[in-house]
Amino acid sequence: MKTLLQKLIQAESTPEKGELAAAEVVLESFRQSGIESHIDAWEQNRANVIARVEGVSPSIRGQSLSRACRGDARDTGETQPGLLFACHLDVVSHGEATWTYPPFDAVETDGRIYGRGSTDMKGGTAAAITAIRRIVESNTPLKGDLIFVASAGEETDSCGAERFVSNYGPMPALAGVVIPEPTDFAVVTAHRGMLWLEVSTTGKTAHSSTPHLGVNAITSMHRFLNELDHYEMPIGPHELLGKCSMSVNTIEGGKALNVVPDKCRIGIDFRTLPNQDDQRTIDDLERIFAKLKSDDPHFEATISVIRQVQAMETDRHCDFIKALGAAVGIDKTSAIGFTTDGPSFAKLGAPVVIFGPGKPALCHKPDEYIDICDVGKASEHYKNIILRLLT
Ligand SMILES: [Zn+2]
Repeated sequence: MKTLLQKLIQAESTPEKGELAAAEVVLESFRQSGIESHIDAWEQNRANVIARVEGVSPSIRGQSLSRACRGDARDTGETQPGLLFACHLDVVSHGEATWTYPPFDAVETDGRIYGRGSTDMKGGTAAAITAIRRIVESNTPLKGDLIFVASAGEETDSCGAERFVSNYGPMPALAGVVIPEPTDFAVVTAHRGMLWLEVSTTGKTAHSSTPHLGVNAITSMHRFLNELDHYEMPIGPHELLGKCSMSVNTIEGGKALNVVPDKCRIGIDFRTLPNQDDQRTIDDLERIFAKLKSDDPHFEATISVIRQVQAMETDRHCDFIKALGAAVGIDKTSAIGFTTDGPSFAKLGAPVVIFGPGKPALCHKPDEYIDICDVGKASEHYKNIILRLLT
């Protein structure tokens, strides 16, 4: 498992390099245990990797699992709902900061593996693959299908998860979806969503010695930002997730010190709550534009959506969460601050849980690492979840 994790980190699946090399590492690992698996690749280096162990209906249980895996003894009518493990292959870039150990060397020291993606989420991915391989190697017959996907683009646009959800078929009924993202072994049933908006103001250039001949786009943005300071969120706090938040995180405008700027742009990051209507937020901001324009007809602004991820909320009292909690010996559920591919997988109609090794605080930081013992512990938990739900 440790070697598998190291190979996954060394595959360097950044946005620049794509996921294909990491997908090949996963494929090779499953094939070593004779597990049916394939890569779905596109655009040269983008890739999802998918594996499936078919469940055996009661009528043929007792026959060899490998025969069932080949599909020649399958009786779909009688198998139970399956289980999906949904990982992501991509990592964020290693950034500008200096790392103590090279970010893609997967150096092992002091019981840890250092490297970009060790926590987010190659540790959880290696643990899930290892659990599935051990189940298959032990010839344990499963009552329902066990499916694994490691997808592309979770850190950017969830393209891999969306592709899997709309293209993969036929998908069996699922008891649930487990996302092995780093929660430090908290059973997570909710996270906020994300709405990234870009607001641009436009004006008219002029020589800065005669600013009255132009329309200053930065001044327009300043007026908009003043209004935004008083903006009230369109939704009240959620019992697990707290409030919707808003932060203006980028600003760009002006070309030269002696030119009145005709363009200014800001990026706003809203972290949204379940059932929050993103369009309402956009409409609210457009109402602010209208107010500013009625004060000054030169005011011009537009808004565009850069990224949208829905919030996720699974009923924490449902049978799947209860069974999973019993399998791992944790009865408390919680929420996390970051987003995942969970909302994409929730479209499959099954409850989604996020549960994995690694400390969320290490994600996307220099010197990201994972404790090797946590990866082993996660693998045991995943094995117990599979046994609880599929045997
Ligand atoms: Zn992640």
